Amino acid sequence: MTDADPGKEQQTPWFPVTLRLDAASKALIIGGGNIAANKTSLLITTEASVMLIAPALNEELTRIAATGRIRHLPVAVSEDILKEHLPGNRLVFAATNDREVNRMVAAIARDMNIPVCAVDDLAPSTFITPAIVRRPPVLVAISTAGAAPVLARRIRQQIEALLPAHLGRLARFMQRMRPSVATLHPTAETRRRVWEHFLDGAGSEQALSGDDVSAQHTLEQLAQGNTGEGEVWLVGAGPGDADLLTLKALRLMQNADSVLYDHLLPPEILDRVRRDAERVFVGKQRSDHALPQPAINNELIRRARAGERVLRLKGGDPFIFGRGGEEIEALMAADIPFRVVPGISAANGCAAAAGIPLTHRDCAQSCLFLTGHARADGTLDLPWDTIARRGQTIVIYMGLGGIAMLCERLVQHGLPPDWPAAAVEKGTQPDQRVIVADLRSLPERTATEKFRSPSLIIVGEVVRHRVMSRSVKPAMSANAGGDPPEVV
Ligand code: SAH
Repeated sequence: MTDADPGKEQQTPWFPVTLRLDAASKALIIGGGNIAANKTSLLITTEASVMLIAPALNEELTRIAATGRIRHLPVAVSEDILKEHLPGNRLVFAATNDREVNRMVAAIARDMNIPVCAVDDLAPSTFITPAIVRRPPVLVAISTAGAAPVLARRIRQQIEALLPAHLGRLARFMQRMRPSVATLHPTAETRRRVWEHFLDGAGSEQALSGDDVSAQHTLEQLAQGNTGEGEVWLVGAGPGDADLLTLKALRLMQNADSVLYDHLLPPEILDRVRRDAERVFVGKQRSDHALPQPAINNELIRRARAGERVLRLKGGDPFIFGRGGEEIEALMAADIPFRVVPGISAANGCAAAAGIPLTHRDCAQSCLFLTGHARADGTLDLPWDTIARRGQTIVIYMGLGGIAMLCERLVQHGLPPDWPAAAVEKGTQPDQRVIVADLRSLPERTATEKFRSPSLIIVGEVVRHRVMSRSVKPAMSANAGGDPPEVV
């Protein structure tokens, strides 16, 4: 088989094009119900003058007509009406709920050589509308040639998730910069290379985030033959469940040259980093600092200066007990461009996965995030009087090591010993465990059940409001056969 002779199954009578519907063009819709409303909302995203013929309009169309964006001819469609109003239209939708009427419209339009779509009726149609992903000026059209519209919609969902929300900004930036790149690089081949480097490098993220000044600087460097400077992306990877990564985190993970990660990250998340990216473990554990913080900062700076797009991937959110602030100060001092992407913090992730609300109208009007990480001398200097209060939830990060002392202090400063308290180990992960107890018994229970890091402590009456949805239970019984996953 050659390109000029595609196999039979490769052939289709449908050919995708992008039609110009500018202000000088007219489009016509026949019908006043839901189907017509769907097509109308598509057409009004173009510049065309849109006319709609229908004796009556549904609510949505009435609303659109009231804005003046479309013209409504309030009559039943007939051959005479069509002969009068069809000519001059760039396309027509036959979108009534009467197939015969639609076919009549289609037949007359075909006679006049006007492209027509009889909705949900392939045979009389000369065009069909695809499922569309819109990031103007970028448009992605998905067609199954009418074979499987539900499949087309599913593919659209997948592409929606894949494409950055602000892809249009990037496209417009590239459009604006084309003339100046063309001046520096008269040959198409080198121009293409400049743009490819731009898209592969930090420039595309800069343009996507609306930072045109940096994007232009990056592009100018590339156009002059410099490889461009690198950038650091400080990204929150969430509490461990890979499905809780943000779309932005995933995108940057796919684009990074290297990734510096710490011990909180499970392999299923690291697996989603671009295969060719260099992986550097800089993990911190209580007493086992793989790399001290200043060395991590220096490594980020060194790599960015060498032109790398460095992903600093952190568990949870980078700005919650993640030392993200310190890393950024170092980057700023070294004049390295950076970007921060939030992640779902352990408090949010564990609360949802364990079914414990963090606030509740009846008993918790505020929620406090604390670090339970004691100093080297074992002391924990916290304002206990404001912490040990009713009416608020206390979430303690890194509190497992000092849990006995933490619970004791809370009781000493006024909370009752039977005040509800829970511990969540490896929240949101398949082997998550939860203990629901009180301040008196939680330390012993976590010891007996051999809870390990990462574990989060939640103190407050919200623990009593724990909900066990059907979707929570199966996830927690995932390690059936081993330790009881649900330790209450
Ligand atoms: N930046 C992170 C927190 C880092 S501090 C965030 O926003 O989540 C590390 C502590 O977070 C751990 O000691 C533990 O208390 C908590 N933690 C992180 N992930 C967790 C998880 N999956 N389950 C329970 N606790 C977790």
